[in-house]
Amino acid sequence: MKQQKPVIILFGPQGSGKGTQGKKLTEKLNIPYLETGQLLRNEIATGSEDGKRFASYMDKGNLVPPEDAIALMSKKITQAVSDKGGAVIDGFPRSAEQAKGFPEDINLTHVLLIDLEDKESIRRLSARRNCPKDKKIYNMITNPPKNNETCDDCGTKLVQRDDDFPKAIQQRLDVYHRDTEPLIERYKKMGLLHRINGMPSIEEVEKEIWKIFE
Ligand SMILES: [Zn+2]
Repeated sequence: MKQQKPVIILFGPQGSGKGTQGKKLTEKLNIPYLETGQLLRNEIATGSEDGKRFASYMDKGNLVPPEDAIALMSKKITQAVSDKGGAVIDGFPRSAEQAKGFPEDINLTHVLLIDLEDKESIRRLSARRNCPKDKKIYNMITNPPKNNETCDDCGTKLVQRDDDFPKAIQQRLDVYHRDTEPLIERYKKMGLLHRINGMPSIEEVEKEIWKIFE
């Protein structure tokens, strides 16, 4: 099959609902959802040589070297387009440098940016709570437990991970802005960028995105 469906790159800060919207879009368009972290984990699960190498970094809590992540994504994008005619891509490229690794023969059709102010990202993410026992994740705004700050399943008191405190969130947002803004500017100049306001509800954002494709 050759490319006959959209090839979409998703951008958005943490808390923008990017993953949720990406999955909805892949269902509607019937194309694969390619998310870097998930694809790395899938490769590790196959037990391949590449997978073993990825695991050697990730087991220590390190990032896989960018060239490895780029090579994997490039391969998966090419495969998805050849098998299914298109793809929704999340988490790649993360910088102008990484964008050079985007497969040259694939025609990128849309770049969706789900925009959210830092203040709102922080509000949403700092509402996350985890059950230390079974690792279940809650969000005090969007998915609160039935009883105040205790796990629905096991009753354990929920905790807030260090990563979900405002200071840590802001640090990740700073990296996101630094790395992706030049890239977003580039896609804008290419006429591929669609900017979507991430403030409204999941349903409303979904409707806005779908307007681009129907
Ligand atoms: Zn629990």
